[in-house]
Amino acid sequence: MSNVFYRDPRHYYPQATRGEGVYLYDAAGHRYLDGSGGAAVSCLGHGHPAIIRAIQHQVAELAYAHTAFFTNAPQEKLAARLAQRYGEDDAKVYFVSGGSEANETAIKLVRQYWLARGKPDKTMIASRLYSYHGNTLGALSASGNVGRRGLFGPLLHDWPRIEPCYAYRHRRENETEEDYGRRAANALEDAILEHGADRIGAFIAETVVGATLGAVPGAAGYFRHIRDICDRHDILLILDEVMAGAGRAGTYFAFEQDGIRPDLVTIAKGLGGGYQPIGAVVAQSAIHDEIVEAFGHFEHGHTYIGHATACAAAMAVSDVLDDEELLTNVQRISALLVEGLKDAFGEHPNVGDVRGRGLLLGIELVADRATKGPMRPAVAPLIKEAAMTEGLIIYPGSGSADGTAGAHILLAPPFIYSPDNVDELIEKLGRALARVDLGSA
Ligand code: PLP
Repeated sequence: MSNVFYRDPRHYYPQATRGEGVYLYDAAGHRYLDGSGGAAVSCLGHGHPAIIRAIQHQVAELAYAHTAFFTNAPQEKLAARLAQRYGEDDAKVYFVSGGSEANETAIKLVRQYWLARGKPDKTMIASRLYSYHGNTLGALSASGNVGRRGLFGPLLHDWPRIEPCYAYRHRRENETEEDYGRRAANALEDAILEHGADRIGAFIAETVVGATLGAVPGAAGYFRHIRDICDRHDILLILDEVMAGAGRAGTYFAFEQDGIRPDLVTIAKGLGGGYQPIGAVVAQSAIHDEIVEAFGHFEHGHTYIGHATACAAAMAVSDVLDDEELLTNVQRISALLVEGLKDAFGEHPNVGDVRGRGLLLGIELVADRATKGPMRPAVAPLIKEAAMTEGLIIYPGSGSADGTAGAHILLAPPFIYSPDNVDELIEKLGRALARVDLGSA
């Protein structure tokens, strides 16, 4: 008998007791290789001494001081670091406690920006089907994750949602990747023409779609066209890098590889690496300045924004990325993992696609490789369980084909993986897949 309001009260959750490097341990003494950082969170693995030291030091100095009264050194340093990584020295950074809060904050920044610019009707946030931006009602309104929206439809805003850029399923056979990227981006222009640029404040997209589709980056050129369309119609571009950012894609921001810069970018999970709950919105200085000039301040706030201990932990995570040259390791391990997955499962009758960027990788499972007939969604939880039985943590999901049908496995291992860890992951994943009847599950 427990008093915890569990995610799923019908499910048995072993008690995690310890983490060390790429492994987690439970109370029964089982050891699990972390193959997904939980939900793409634990980028440095578990128990990293530099992060523990930074947190201990900060808690002893100053754990927290409310930002209505004070600023604090960790948030100042971290904001400067993120502005520099974003590529604009004057960019402004708003710290929150997670990904949903970050996107909710971005949506409200957009609203206040357009009010400041004298365009009060630009209230809609356009987004993509099969994407996820968070569970709070604003962020969920902009999300296309069918399952997570389901029960809450009547509470959500009816904002335009376009098809995602999803080459495996949507690129035509006679189409180059570039042509497909342009066609997929044009769906945004169509939506703008339909709903009116004077009513759309921003377009939000995951640079690499994470949990909903299983690690799907834009096709070549896609985000350059999106940037161009947003600019031509005076619509802000928000990139949600809650999952793909903070190094996971192999560059600090995933958008660096798309040759563009969004007006607002949100990050969370890997920012604190699970050592502290923290998220952030990085905003172009012009957005901040318009708001401040018109209103004096941004009408927003949470009790824990700019939390000193959370910012100190995130600053230490950022330092470790640089000191241990982990972005290089992300790229090295990514190449090994993709090659290993293709070797091990490339001919598997139920593996349709292996894809992703950096250490955000997806395996799309299918019922039929030739027709790409979707896998039954019910296999996702079975694979998760089978993997845990084999001592492996992975993040399977469902709905990858059309929002409801289909299943995939998301892999997002810590950046500190060695080649041996890659071999162990692939071996355990193979054993887990063999435990599940993919043909009739
Ligand atoms: N955006 C993306 C892309 C995510 O993957 C998630 C969480 O999975 C969120 C937003 C919401 O973040 P959080 O769960 O920290 O509120």
